[in-house]
Amino acid sequence: MTQHAPSYYAATANRQTARLALTTTITTEICIIGAGFTGISAALELAAKNIPVVVLESVRVGFGASGRNGGQIVNGYSRDLDVIADRYGPGPGKAIGAMALEGGAIIRERVKKYAIKCDLTEGGLFCAFSQKQLEGLRHHKKIWSEYGHQAMDILDHDQMQNHVVTTRYVGALLDHLGGHIHPLNLVQGEAEAAESHGATIYENSPAIAIENGQTPVVKTPNGEVRCKTILVCGNAYLGNLLPEITARIMPVTTQIIATEPLGDEAAKLLPSNVCVEDANYVLDYYRRTPDTRILYGGGIVYGGTDSESITAKIRPNMLKTFPSLKDAKIDYAWSGNFALTLTRFPQMGRLGDNLLFSHGCSGHGVTTTHLLGRLLAEAVTGDPTRFNIIANLPYYPFPGGRLFRVPATIAGSWYYRARDALGL
Ligand SMILES: Cc1cc2nc3c(=O)[nH]c(=O)nc-3n(C[C@H](O)[C@H](O)[C@H](O)COP(=O)(O)OP(=O)(O)OC[C@H]3O[C@@H](n4cnc5c(N)ncnc54)[C@H](O)[C@@H]3O)c2cc1C
Repeated sequence: MTQHAPSYYAATANRQTARLALTTTITTEICIIGAGFTGISAALELAAKNIPVVVLESVRVGFGASGRNGGQIVNGYSRDLDVIADRYGPGPGKAIGAMALEGGAIIRERVKKYAIKCDLTEGGLFCAFSQKQLEGLRHHKKIWSEYGHQAMDILDHDQMQNHVVTTRYVGALLDHLGGHIHPLNLVQGEAEAAESHGATIYENSPAIAIENGQTPVVKTPNGEVRCKTILVCGNAYLGNLLPEITARIMPVTTQIIATEPLGDEAAKLLPSNVCVEDANYVLDYYRRTPDTRILYGGGIVYGGTDSESITAKIRPNMLKTFPSLKDAKIDYAWSGNFALTLTRFPQMGRLGDNLLFSHGCSGHGVTTTHLLGRLLAEAVTGDPTRFNIIANLPYYPFPGGRLFRVPATIAGSWYYRARDALGL
């Protein structure tokens, strides 16, 4: 049976047992494809309202980006709120800004309500390498405060040492509404919460064909789901199932390593236990784990999927930040794919009357996917207002067509050239 990527999270998951695969024909109201944060968030919202819902997952709940990411609760979207308002206009900008803290609130609400054990820890730090980047973080803070988020502090180099002990940065922005979680345990806990309300989840059950008509059908290798509406939440792992959808995104790989347990050393490096990301476009992100490891991720990296090559790429970055870790053993190394859009803003939409999709959080999706799952649920239960705000935004297809034709090694420079060509 296919299992999770060989991550620290898979090794420490609360639930190790797999769910059954679909082997019959079943009928339901909503069929969701993909059991990541988006699909499970929608399933939980729907099941809690007593709507019959079935989730089909190719591999295991959380197999995709949701179960193997940096676990950083980063509020908002992959673009600043003022950039979004400039691009889409003040109306959509205001509406999107009003939803920007909702994803993080959903996570905290569910962790509490369903007693999900996922190591939720508060606080996130954005670190600047230069005064110019620090100015950018000041701007970020100002924009957020205009949208009602006041719980942010700018820290100088010395103040920053209370949170991360390194010489690398000139200062930082502390977001008190940021934080971190064990993402696989979060998505699994949410899946169990959805099941407690009556949702059914099948694992090892890839959707391999879709009949998207008046009476939609989703086929798996050994069964099928007849339903009224399909929600497609496969994100970067959707492959070729629906080319109209996957043409809109580019899967991008990012990689993470986890050290051996470091004892007291971990808290010396990250005294306040906040998570950290730097302000570069291709960024490093890191945090500590309850069992005193440093978990260090390395932005966008093309190529290299075996654990040795991942370690060879990410470990030097970690040593630049924390030279004292030069003798620390690396216990885990893994990679995962997120879906990048040309604008770095997520996309939602419809294909026909009975199929809705959501994808493309572009590297910062832990909170936003929770919001988008809720918007999908609202749309299929009679209130598409908020879904339509995002679905009605103009979208920019990747020039040159299907992303899978772009070799991974040149995808990065190709992406920037495409954005420049469109003036994005
Ligand atoms: C290594 C890494 C680190 C990251 N770190 C952070 C971070 O620290 N903070 C942050 O905010 N964001 C981070 N992200 C981004 C974030 O993880 C994603 O934006 C988010 O998890 C996407 O969730 P999703 O549900 O849309 O997609 P996914 O979690 O990828 O879920 C899609 C699911 O659909 C399934 N699927 C696909 N096709 C089919 C099919 N045909 N039939 C059935 N099932 C199917 C897949 O198996 C998968 O389980 C990171 C991403 C990666 C890869």
